[in-house]
Amino acid sequence: MVNTHTAGANIPVEPTENDAGVNSSAYQPRPTARLTDSLGRVIHDLRVSITDRCNYKCVYCRTGNSGARYSELSSDEYLRLIGIFVSLGITKVRLTGGEPLLRRGVVEMVQALANLRTPGGDRLDLALTTNGHLLGQLAAPLRDAGLDRVTVSMDAVDAPTFERITRVPGSFAAVLAGIRAARSAGLAPLKINCVLLRGFNDDQIESFAHFARREGVVVRFIEFMPLEEGRLWTPEIVVPLKEIVQRIGRVMPLVELAPREASETARRYGFEDGFGEIGIIAPVSQAFCGACSRVRLTSDGKIRTCLFSQVEHDLYGRMRAGASDAELSAYILRIVQGKEARHHIGEPGFLKPSRSMVHIGG
Ligand code: SAM
Repeated sequence: MVNTHTAGANIPVEPTENDAGVNSSAYQPRPTARLTDSLGRVIHDLRVSITDRCNYKCVYCRTGNSGARYSELSSDEYLRLIGIFVSLGITKVRLTGGEPLLRRGVVEMVQALANLRTPGGDRLDLALTTNGHLLGQLAAPLRDAGLDRVTVSMDAVDAPTFERITRVPGSFAAVLAGIRAARSAGLAPLKINCVLLRGFNDDQIESFAHFARREGVVVRFIEFMPLEEGRLWTPEIVVPLKEIVQRIGRVMPLVELAPREASETARRYGFEDGFGEIGIIAPVSQAFCGACSRVRLTSDGKIRTCLFSQVEHDLYGRMRAGASDAELSAYILRIVQGKEARHHIGEPGFLKPSRSMVHIGG
């Protein structure tokens, strides 16, 4: 494990479960083992945070006073754990962070993942979520290494607003260059994710629709979730799907598009003239937990079965203690069985997880 931070001793972390009840010796590897949960949802999408560090301090995400909190594994350790998930039925891997492009060896890691095969012999669907700051230099090498797609986070389309959010001068030009480099490298479809907060950047909605068409990208608006380091979230600050559709529809008529797969998180809309697309991810106003196909691995090797999990599961600790692949597989299968049915945002008694989005891996 690579230590990248000094903080830690006094930081509240999620409780991790103890070893009681793990019966890994009973595991018999079966080629048909499939990651499913107790509700019958098939889990085929793994998000891996490969660093807890980030070079932006987006005001709705981070307080600006603290940096990385959690350690990183070595590339080989991530690759071993990801390989085990893949042997269990994961077909899509998304690298995230922190900011994944800060991670040394990210291109080599993508190359190694591109060589992995599912039990059926297929390539993985390889994606990465980034703030785009370093994408100008890295888009082509990542594409050459085998990355299929990239999602760039961008919360405003004018430079001053954007830089007020990221708190990094020059960030708008860097991200725009990154988006264009990704497009030229053929990382398609190129998606831009924008988190909307009322009274803060919701004046950008209509400009984003123009941006999507001008730059040939799919802009996806995301409802703000209570996953920030500080305390900002209220139901009123969330800009719901319905309002976004109405506002864009007023300037450019939209038509709803059919989902491509059942577990798709975004509701898709095309512009009536057939040119361009936007998406809306509405975990708050129209939760999609029933179709969730995701599991997450944090930078320090903990499994999280939901963004809002109150408990996380120390996969890396078991690996470090010498567990075999078969034992780690048995553990993953058991933990995923216990995936939460849904989140409880906005309900009385809702408990925010102690890790915020940047430390979970969005
Ligand atoms: N640094 C990378 C990036 O900027 O995309 C990956 C990590 S970042 C935490 C992943 C995504 O989570 C970003 O699109 C960010 O806007 C989003 N995000 C952060 N806090 C959020 C929140 N409270 N609700 C919804 N999305 C959030």
